[in-house]
Amino acid sequence: MCYDVIIIGAGPAGLTAGVYARSKMMKTLILDSGRVGGQLVGLYPEKGVHNYPGFETIQARKLSDKLYAQAESMECEIKEYEKVEEIENGEEELLVITSKNTYHAKSVIVAIGMGSFKPKKMGCPGEDELCGKGVTYLLPAKEELVGKKVTMFGGGNSAIDMALVADSVTDTTIVHRRADFRADEGTVRELEKSNVRRVMSANLLSINGKDKVESVTVEQDGKEIVIPTDLAVINIGISADLEDLKRWGLELTPDGLVKVNFDMSTSRPGIFACGDVVSYPGKFKQITTACGEATTAILMAHKFVKKPYWA
Ligand SMILES: Cc1cc2nc3c(=O)[nH]c(=O)nc-3n(C[C@H](O)[C@H](O)[C@H](O)COP(=O)(O)OP(=O)(O)OC[C@H]3O[C@@H](n4cnc5c(N)ncnc54)[C@H](O)[C@@H]3O)c2cc1C
Repeated sequence: MCYDVIIIGAGPAGLTAGVYARSKMMKTLILDSGRVGGQLVGLYPEKGVHNYPGFETIQARKLSDKLYAQAESMECEIKEYEKVEEIENGEEELLVITSKNTYHAKSVIVAIGMGSFKPKKMGCPGEDELCGKGVTYLLPAKEELVGKKVTMFGGGNSAIDMALVADSVTDTTIVHRRADFRADEGTVRELEKSNVRRVMSANLLSINGKDKVESVTVEQDGKEIVIPTDLAVINIGISADLEDLKRWGLELTPDGLVKVNFDMSTSRPGIFACGDVVSYPGKFKQITTACGEATTAILMAHKFVKKPYWA
């Protein structure tokens, strides 16, 4: 069997591409190395998204659920936990090789976002030992925070957004190693209006506890401060791994992302790309831009595959 299009990645870009593909009646397969939802479920499920059209605010996990439901309602075939290893040329079609199968496709959309991503670590004593016992890189659901003392580490939008979520149900402190936050002004203003305690210009020395986190020790102005803590949430960035791309024979930009033309075509015929994985002058990594690029990518893939008389 040969698919009209195989979409690699089921984040916002891949799911949008799937919806458009099915609206053109293309036989569509979406493959993801993890769970559907991309960064929205993998990195910030509890955070509010305030800039997706049609929703004043929507929790990232819920936005992902809606994108997923829409793709399913359009009868996209979606396979989770199936990592794409290679994209090879077949006789007339492309071969998409995963850890489990080889699939045939007339076109491919690369929408792998940041590839395999994992949160950056603080690298302090106690972090690894107490991981899962009060040290976490994702904010748990609100209900699990009630009655716990939360200490958040980080100074970007995501750390502040998560601190605000925690503050709505429990005692929350944010620790940042610099004097100013790097988050948007509006977000910082929200923080200033909240009850979140701010500990600035402070370095984390250790996370303490025997079987679970009991406190964290930070250093500020040469003094050690112990902050009683049940949950140490570390939110200082993500390290991305885009090694797969190097094997796929696509022309890459100096920063290792996929070089695309205005129509989202790549250097390989029949392969288009969209979302965080692509780079071009004026590129912004946002959900809306990922969805917009996905629209262009899939409509170009449709032209490539179906060659309609009007195209
Ligand atoms: C903390 C944080 C907060 C953010 N907040 C906002 C916000 O409020 N508003 C906003 O607009 N944007 C926000 N963003 C940015 C936004 O999340 C991204 O721009 C968006 O997720 C990009 O979508 P994508 O589909 O291109 O990639 P991703 O969401 O990264 O999805 C890519 C998918 O591809 C899969 N994949 C990777 N490699 C393979 C492979 N080899 N085979 C198969 N599947 C693979 C991954 O598992 C993943 O599911 C935020 C980002 C972060 C990190």
